[in-house]
Amino acid sequence: MRRLKKVPVKKIGIIERYEEFLPVSKKTPIISLNEGNTPLILSEALGTLMGVKNLRIYFKFEGLNPTGSFKDRGMTMAVSKALEEGATAIMCASTGNTSASAAAYASRCKMKCYVLIPEGKIAKGKLLQAFRYGAQVIIVKGNFDKALELVKTITATHPIQIVNSVNPFRIEGQKTAAFEICDDLGDAPDYHIIPVGNAGNITAYWKGYKEYRKHGLSKKLPKMIGFQAAGAAPIVLNHVVEYPETIATAIRIGNPASWQGAIEARDESGGLIDSVTDDEISWAYRFLAEREGVFSEPASAATVAGLIKLAKKKYFKPKTKIVCTLTGSGLKDPEFGLSFNDRIEAVEPTMKSVLNLIEAGKS
Ligand SMILES: *Cc1c(COP(=O)(O)O)cnc(C)c1O
Repeated sequence: MRRLKKVPVKKIGIIERYEEFLPVSKKTPIISLNEGNTPLILSEALGTLMGVKNLRIYFKFEGLNPTGSFKDRGMTMAVSKALEEGATAIMCASTGNTSASAAAYASRCKMKCYVLIPEGKIAKGKLLQAFRYGAQVIIVKGNFDKALELVKTITATHPIQIVNSVNPFRIEGQKTAAFEICDDLGDAPDYHIIPVGNAGNITAYWKGYKEYRKHGLSKKLPKMIGFQAAGAAPIVLNHVVEYPETIATAIRIGNPASWQGAIEARDESGGLIDSVTDDEISWAYRFLAEREGVFSEPASAATVAGLIKLAKKKYFKPKTKIVCTLTGSGLKDPEFGLSFNDRIEAVEPTMKSVLNLIEAGKS
């Protein structure tokens, strides 16, 4: 049969797409899984919910990256540069998504990958990924901050490259999400809302927005609005949280590595960093899936919880564009997702028993 439409066979990743903005050269071996180019989805239900008509709210859905989170943008850079510099092993501490991403990119170039994970506080899907992509998974008794400390010490004294976001190439790769948003909207939005854990991503977006404007590719800069979980909100409280707690495990961090970057993004842009409770996060997590058809993980839903909190206070000017980054896929954490449902029992395979259930479900 004749091909009706010619489509490019090779989809490209963020390094090839935004080469001139990234510290790469002809010598850099590009290790890519075609990350980036994620959709900017217009919200259907949030405006009605909040009783505001003229806000345009978009979701930058990073859950559609190759390993299911935005971490892939930074990891393609970090691993490519590590390979260019002759590294044969990488290491990271992780609440889950960094390890999944590091393991995937390492497997593509036959590098060793060591991941340190805090005991008991990682979503099952993320652990599954780290194992299946072939990383050596080391579970440590302690929280993320402790694990990161260990990784910093080990990589400083051994020939292993650290790929946490203290690695500057991670931030470089992650800033490309801001470029994509400007490319899609024709300019930067008025507000950008993002969850804050280790604070690398808010730092990266702000860098991206500033660079695009400097090059004349966008005209405005957004106000950067970060949300932490109430039980893990060191930046909001202005002090380290020794025992961070939240259901949003991806942002369960008490001493963010890019603390200063987050403060700069907030203050230079005239934005803010605030917190939302676990209940607010859970509500937003379900709302996104049930009313918008977008299934993201709990940490991602902190943005929408925050958006609702601010809209209630009439924070947003009318007729503005707001982008919320939804950082990771809902499929990462099946245990949390299923915790909202009672045990589901099988029924007799008869029309009557099925219709009875449908009837009961209506109430
Ligand atoms: C890593 C991560 C975050 C937090 O990003 P930081 O750069 O650490 O602030 C939020 N959500 C998800 C899904 C993540 O994987």
